Amino acid sequence: MKNLLLIVSILTHSCLAQQVAITLDDLPFGYSAGMSDSMKIASTKRILTILEEFDIKSMGFVTSGNMSEENQVILNMWLKKGHDLGNHTHRHYNFNEVSAAKYIADIDSCRLLAGKWLTTNYFRYSMLRRGNTEEKRDSVYSHLEKLGYTIAPVSIDNNEWIYNRDYSRALRNNDEEKMIKIGNEYIEHMKEISLKYEKMGVELTGRSVRHILLLHANPINAKYLHVLLGWYKSEGWDFVTLQEAMKDSIYVSNKDFVSDYGWSQIDKIQKSGKK
Ligand SMILES: [Zn+2]
Repeated sequence: MKNLLLIVSILTHSCLAQQVAITLDDLPFGYSAGMSDSMKIASTKRILTILEEFDIKSMGFVTSGNMSEENQVILNMWLKKGHDLGNHTHRHYNFNEVSAAKYIADIDSCRLLAGKWLTTNYFRYSMLRRGNTEEKRDSVYSHLEKLGYTIAPVSIDNNEWIYNRDYSRALRNNDEEKMIKIGNEYIEHMKEISLKYEKMGVELTGRSVRHILLLHANPINAKYLHVLLGWYKSEGWDFVTLQEAMKDSIYVSNKDFVSDYGWSQIDKIQKSGKK
């Protein structure tokens, strides 16, 4: 009986284990004002080592406007470690502020300039904004379809970039005390937000959904990514690829959602009531 209970408990745990895919945007390197290319390369090395320690194959999204002659080597580093790279536009426009034609041209610019590094046909919208009118939304959808692109959604909406912006400022000012304070706040925020979206997913679907986490290749993650991933692991979350996470049926619905904000898939389901 005792053994049976143990088996049931192990099975239940393994069936219920939360899963999360790690994606990192704005490659070669995200917001890092004042940082030299050699610092970006060193920070990338650190991020890649951490991902390797946790046996994670992530997907990086390239913003070709962030590329320079010197930092292109960063993209090779990602590929060498077996990560996939997708398209994240050239200029990272806020789609609310530009026409569909301009946005489409920007997707094509990234294909052209970063094409030799892109290993997949995955596309992530800049700021997750898919168009604030049906017309704009559909124009880009049909272009992506023509290119055979798959849109990479997100399930855990987080404001990691705000923490990075403040952390980068403290880094620039050599304010170590502030850097530690912001780093700790970042981790606490990410724990809270991950548990919030896990709970929302369970409430909406009756099960644990496969999560997709959007992070950036940026200074705060070069320093704190291991703490964040260590926390997921200690909470029993498994790391999966984006491709694996997207097999979850929650990512199929709400393609018709129109908003001027880039909502996560879980938020869209909650707002529209459509699973
Ligand atoms: Zn981005």
